[in-house]
Amino acid sequence: MNRRTKIVATLGPATDDADALEQLIRAGCDVVRINFSHGDATTHARRIKMVRAVARELDTDVAVLADLSGPKIRIDRFREGRVELTRGQTFSLYARENPPAGDEHGVGVAYLGLARDVQPGSELLLDDGLMAMTVSEVVGDEIRCIVDTAGPLSDRKGLNLRGGGLSIPGVSDADRDDIKLAAEWQVDYLAVSFPRSAEDMQQARDLLQAAGGSAGLVSKIERTEAIENLESIIKASDAVLVARGDLGVEIGEAELPGLQKRIIAACLKLNRPVITATPMMQSMIENPIPTRAEVLDVANAVIDGTDAVMLSAETAVGRHPARVIEAMARICEGAERHVQAYQTSRLFSARAERADQAIAMAAMVVANNFGAQAIIALTESGSTARWLSRVRSPLPIIGMSPNRASLRRMRLFQHVQPLFFSA
Ligand code: PGA
Ligand code: MN
Repeated sequence: MNRRTKIVATLGPATDDADALEQLIRAGCDVVRINFSHGDATTHARRIKMVRAVARELDTDVAVLADLSGPKIRIDRFREGRVELTRGQTFSLYARENPPAGDEHGVGVAYLGLARDVQPGSELLLDDGLMAMTVSEVVGDEIRCIVDTAGPLSDRKGLNLRGGGLSIPGVSDADRDDIKLAAEWQVDYLAVSFPRSAEDMQQARDLLQAAGGSAGLVSKIERTEAIENLESIIKASDAVLVARGDLGVEIGEAELPGLQKRIIAACLKLNRPVITATPMMQSMIENPIPTRAEVLDVANAVIDGTDAVMLSAETAVGRHPARVIEAMARICEGAERHVQAYQTSRLFSARAERADQAIAMAAMVVANNFGAQAIIALTESGSTARWLSRVRSPLPIIGMSPNRASLRRMRLFQHVQPLFFSA
């Protein structure tokens, strides 16, 4: 195994046959992501079944990460599907039950609390930041805005509030149903979207446990409040996802590089695997090769110390999903050859919380000192392999387990190669 960094790929229409999935796994996909924001339960169930069948055929274990839609705020629909807005015009958002279909004067928004959360001067971003408007006044449930960016606006586009401050709770009603499905399908990881605090993570964990699920819980850092509560959210999570798509819209893109480094460093310190995501190889939705900026972005995440990098639309709806994985794998390997952090001088950057964890980390130091070629962990739950992988060193970690679920979970940990053994 040459590559340390793991690859998460989102499934979608472009990966919907066994052949495409086989190519994806052969190209080096470690974890597949099922995005609950798109598609229905039948489609998700079919995709999970198919990926498990293909992995079994290839005699490997691939982890399934189900990603909850979370309390993403969306505008309603327009009478004509879309409108064209001009800079300086007024446009209203109606935060009420059953608003009329939208037109160039305004559109409904399903989150009724929005009128309470904004005030004159608040900056609203729609369609991943492509459209911006500033609130001029709030009259009852009508939020009047001045359009700052001209352009089209179409049905169901997402809405963010610059700087945060939305009081919408972290786990939505739809999420509650989806958590039950995730438990039923025994997914390996469950991602919570837009959590504000450790309490939001705990709520998701309680719901998952009540539904009988045992997935590792992933917090997506994509709200201003999550940055304010970063350490406690990380501690309440089994893994973390730097969700740069929404985070960049809320907090401003100029803050992203610094925040990415801060989140990854915090995860290393607190011993949680971390995924860097969205978008990483966007141009490869169409193109056969990545742009230089994308190459540098993926490499930079590797240099920052991420455990995994993620693909979204590139694999879900892109023209050549397997090719994107191959390119990403190549970039990771190239960057890894230059990372100083794998040198033994940095071995002690992580801190142990428990005695068995400290022993695992110490074993890693000893193995490095004696010039071992690899370190093998016999592990029931996969935890020992996870702790070993927190100590970044040149040694590959073989995580041997008789437990298939543990083998799948280990696919996310940097430099860990899961291996089945029967006791
Ligand atoms: P999403 O999350 O793709 O579910 O929006 C990732 C992100 O916001 O970066
Ligand atoms: Mn997001």
